[in-house]
Amino acid sequence: MAGIDPIQMSACAIASAVNEGSIKAADVVSSFLQRTEDLHRELNTHVFWDKEAVQNETEKQLDYIEAARRAQKYLPLAGVPIAIKDNIMAEGSIVSCGSKFLQNHRAAFDATVIKQLKQAGAVLMGRTNMDEFGMGSSNENSAFGPVRNPWNRSHVSGGSSGGSAAAVAAGMTTLALGSDTGGSVRQPASFCGVLGLKPSYGAVSRYGLVAYASSFDQIGPIGTNARDLARTFDLLRTHDPLDSTSVDTSAFEKTEIQLERPLKGLTIGIADELLQEGLDEDVKKSFFESLEVYKELGCTIKKITLPNLRHSIPTYYILATAEASSNLARFDGIRFGVRASKPGASLKDLYAQSRSEGFGREVKQRIMLGTYVLSSGYYDAYYAKANRMRELIRRDFAAAFEYGVDLIATPTAPTTAFVLGQKTDNSLSMYLMDIYTIAANLSGIPALSLPIGLDRKGLPIGLQLMGKTHHEGELLRSAYQYEQYKRWTERPKF
Ligand code: GLN
Repeated sequence: MAGIDPIQMSACAIASAVNEGSIKAADVVSSFLQRTEDLHRELNTHVFWDKEAVQNETEKQLDYIEAARRAQKYLPLAGVPIAIKDNIMAEGSIVSCGSKFLQNHRAAFDATVIKQLKQAGAVLMGRTNMDEFGMGSSNENSAFGPVRNPWNRSHVSGGSSGGSAAAVAAGMTTLALGSDTGGSVRQPASFCGVLGLKPSYGAVSRYGLVAYASSFDQIGPIGTNARDLARTFDLLRTHDPLDSTSVDTSAFEKTEIQLERPLKGLTIGIADELLQEGLDEDVKKSFFESLEVYKELGCTIKKITLPNLRHSIPTYYILATAEASSNLARFDGIRFGVRASKPGASLKDLYAQSRSEGFGREVKQRIMLGTYVLSSGYYDAYYAKANRMRELIRRDFAAAFEYGVDLIATPTAPTTAFVLGQKTDNSLSMYLMDIYTIAANLSGIPALSLPIGLDRKGLPIGLQLMGKTHHEGELLRSAYQYEQYKRWTERPKF
């Protein structure tokens, strides 16, 4: 393996090389540490990046990997660097959630996913920038400034896991974790030309993920190819008694072993009503071209209708803000969060003052919206009604799957990455970026985004595939075979 730059290697190739001893995990790690050190300022991908501190933290893990190798114990992600979105707890690290309110908050324990990754031999490669508490679609709502898109620095990275997606695209890490409440893994993956998977609700433990909207949130992997994603997902998918919504999926086959299985016989549904106004021409063209590839691979394309999906955005923004307003109540300057400099005369003043100083504008807007839709007198008109709509959206998917469709394809986002600052004054235009991704979170089904080309400005375009609950295998297999057929090797230039 000597001579191969680890930055160009897949996670699976790194793991094989480290397991067999042809490359040292310490060398892999030092390449990525240096790459992050060189690029993080320019792209603003990381929060509180400190090369030496990250390097020191890796030492114990490097010992563990080396001991496993000597004992000939195979580790599925041996020596693979993985950057972590800053809302997932890793013991001893700051977990700011992109908020200055939590900029001093250190995690007291490892999230379940962090434990699983360490056990698998992965090496944590810093904390990635994000929209504050996951609220945003462009990373411009981070208290620590926006992430820049590696393909074009004047464009957004997408959000809210923008730091994770941009870090993978820029080769600062092989893998990253994001969290996806309404598209936050898939949309930035699409804007940055990498792959992102949002697992079925309950497939991956949320224990140690700072909650935004608990009935939507899922942690998902971001990487450069389908096999890496499959391997990571397979080890993250376990039943966790520490998360009451975690599902026992042990009856489902591992996804990595399904990758080579031919796609012949699979039916992909497309809904015309989702491909109308607001959809960029280049995105639309690439989308239809990608369907041609799937036809070549033996899939059937079938027209379906998902009539209630046009209500996804208001439904989501009512339910997610309602849940957020309750989840974020714990940040009060006493239990969690920086206390106000002038706390006022009463306890109530202290809360109000700390929250006013600590939270950013978008977060405050959402807490107010969420509190409003839950308040007596409006609860039935908004919250209860949105819950009923959520059920109708679920039924739309159930009907499509019952009708013989295995997968549903849409673009991941209606446009490619937009220019920084373009949508910050208009919440609605920002919320519209989630038009394709939100429905999977509303109904709990798995979805992934894979890169399918570039638009005429040279910015990546993503294809979204959605599948049946706990059928991630079909999604990953479809992404894998697309890659094999039409290898998309373009990378951003540095
Ligand atoms: N953009 C959506 C929002 O702002 C989704 C974010 C997410 O998935 N965390 O809520």
